[in-house]
Amino acid sequence: MTTTTRTLDPVRIRDDFPILHRQVHGKRLIYLDNTASTQKPRQVINALVQVYEEVYANVHRGIHYLSEAATERYEGARRKVAQFINARSPREVIFVRNTTEGINLVAYAWGMANLRPGDEVLITEMEHHSNIVPWQIICERTGATLRWVPVTPDGYLDLDALERLLTERTRLFAFTAMSNVVGTINPVQELVARAHAVGALVLVDGAQAVPHLPVDVQAWDCDFLAFSGHKMCGPSGIGILYGKRQLLEEMPPFMGGGEMIREVKMTGSRWNEVPHKFEAGTPAIAEAIALGAAVDYLSQLGMEQVAAHERQLVRYAYERLQDIGGLKILGPGPDDRGGVLAFVMESAHPHDIAAILDAEGIAIRAGHHCAQPLHDRYGLVASARASFYIYNTEDEVDALALALHRVNQVFG
Ligand code: PLP
Repeated sequence: MTTTTRTLDPVRIRDDFPILHRQVHGKRLIYLDNTASTQKPRQVINALVQVYEEVYANVHRGIHYLSEAATERYEGARRKVAQFINARSPREVIFVRNTTEGINLVAYAWGMANLRPGDEVLITEMEHHSNIVPWQIICERTGATLRWVPVTPDGYLDLDALERLLTERTRLFAFTAMSNVVGTINPVQELVARAHAVGALVLVDGAQAVPHLPVDVQAWDCDFLAFSGHKMCGPSGIGILYGKRQLLEEMPPFMGGGEMIREVKMTGSRWNEVPHKFEAGTPAIAEAIALGAAVDYLSQLGMEQVAAHERQLVRYAYERLQDIGGLKILGPGPDDRGGVLAFVMESAHPHDIAAILDAEGIAIRAGHHCAQPLHDRYGLVASARASFYIYNTEDEVDALALALHRVNQVFG
């Protein structure tokens, strides 16, 4: 591991990430698309390789040595994740493919069993499509009504509107802990308490929060939390749905198949205990184990340190970008946001900005970032987005600012 002091040292951390040493278009790679997906340290890549070279077999099925070894590693990863988010028990941690699948699991398994006409599901205008579309589908199927909390011009949830929208009809409030566009960090604990006060359950979309901030599900008291491994140094194809045990026990399964059953007869089946009831079929074994390695990696850095590093970088970037003529940053000031900066420029379309930056070896994202309603709110079809992680440096922010000046020169 790279750091021995409690201050995070991105230059040392970069040594762990082989891809950061490659060039793009003959320029050093500056990777600022971390909100979409992060790069992987050697520790995670090695964990994946090691599983396939040393302990690979199917899990929970065999009584042979390799199957037992793979199962022990797979369940070990579940324990690490549980500890990372402070779940009461590893049984509250379900392996899924990604945040999207975690949210869909709740929408289908809990929603189809519990929602009726007259019930309401509350979301927000700053959600990623994966926390909008599943609820549209389930409300359509169950006859429940979908409502949403509007976003203020400066990128916060409108808490006055929330007061009116949260009622005894609200069965579930699903919101993101941190916006993947405007970067707003929402007051999760307060929102959960307000939802619980009217008897609603709460699902937190943790896709951006869990990789970047210390997260404690017991302190938040949320009922569900979904997040993705690939956004926190882990492999793609693996994600987590946390759910309070009692709720998971009461919910019917999402998918049927092997592993999720205790007994199958031609006349009917009985379900396995949680979390296995929700893990039908052969899971992403090596990916889950490598996610455990990613959790080890981040835990050793310390999530407080990760958050502090990003706060510092985003403050610096916020200042540097203010100097660029015609550039407008969307969302709140640097103190209330995570390490993501979405912006528009008068001189150029976001796709042109991204193309100019790409030629300089700088990877940013352009588009609606799977948050079309939020862009509609601002009267935009697209924005450019730079987002930071543990390996980004102020030097890279300087390179970003320089390249954005160049955008103005080319298009201005
Ligand atoms: N929610 C938020 C806030 C996100 O930023 C993302 C991805 O960018 C998702 C959900 C969906 O994540 P995944 O594509 O890994 O399911």
